[in-house]
Amino acid sequence: MNIALFGGTFDPPHCGHLALARLALARLPLDRVLLAPVGLQPLKRDNASAGFDDRAAMVRLAIAGDPQLELSLIDAPRLDGQPNYTIDTLSALRRTLSPQDHLYCLMGADSFLTIAKWRRSAELLSACDFIVGARPGFDLSRIAAALPEAISVGVADSGEAGPSGNRRDNSLVLSLSRGTGRRTHLYLLPDLAEDVSATEIRAAIGGDGDHPRQTVLAPAVLDYIHAHSLYQNPD
Ligand code: ATP
Repeated sequence: MNIALFGGTFDPPHCGHLALARLALARLPLDRVLLAPVGLQPLKRDNASAGFDDRAAMVRLAIAGDPQLELSLIDAPRLDGQPNYTIDTLSALRRTLSPQDHLYCLMGADSFLTIAKWRRSAELLSACDFIVGARPGFDLSRIAAALPEAISVGVADSGEAGPSGNRRDNSLVLSLSRGTGRRTHLYLLPDLAEDVSATEIRAAIGGDGDHPRQTVLAPAVLDYIHAHSLYQNPD
């Protein structure tokens, strides 16, 4: 089974998140994408506006009816109140999988560009393959520039293109190497075009901007937001 962990604040989950998950499913031989709301994001200064339970409930509503998208609670708030680090989440997830399962980490390019600041980033980058969604025209050199020093990057041969072995599109496969000899792949999907962020949506609901377009949020998510009076006070 090929599984991608897609972590995020999902505050709220929107069409950009779903577009990224579906693009990954379309381009890579994935069986499932696990959308895992994070309890406490280490790098977000203000952290989430809605509570974890509300964000998890909204993810469940956003993905309802899509059997390849699944809510995961693996990144629920920690009992010790500490932030959730992806390196720990991946280890915990791997313990629930069988040795034959192949694990990927899925994220947008904006998140990946901060990777050097993530806890044990070199170890993280050699712990699993990565799938990164970017906008058309994304400057590839930014990926190399974002890597921690211990990681070097090259373009993978088609023979190294991962479980599918072939690429039917304009995605690019990079090979990430660590001094230890461990190599992983980074699949860059450079044609993601949903220009939306949760920050804008929260501001719009809080009265700071236009009302969010119906297409940006799943109707059930918008209903949930209204029913629970979320995001009434802008960030
Ligand atoms: P905020 O505006 O509150 O920072 P966000 O909309 O960026 O939130 P997150 O939950 O922080 O959403 O993002 C989770 C993941 O989804 C990240 O890897 C991010 O890069 C990706 N992502 C967010 N918005 C989009 C989008 N419009 N298109 C593609 N990926 C996105």
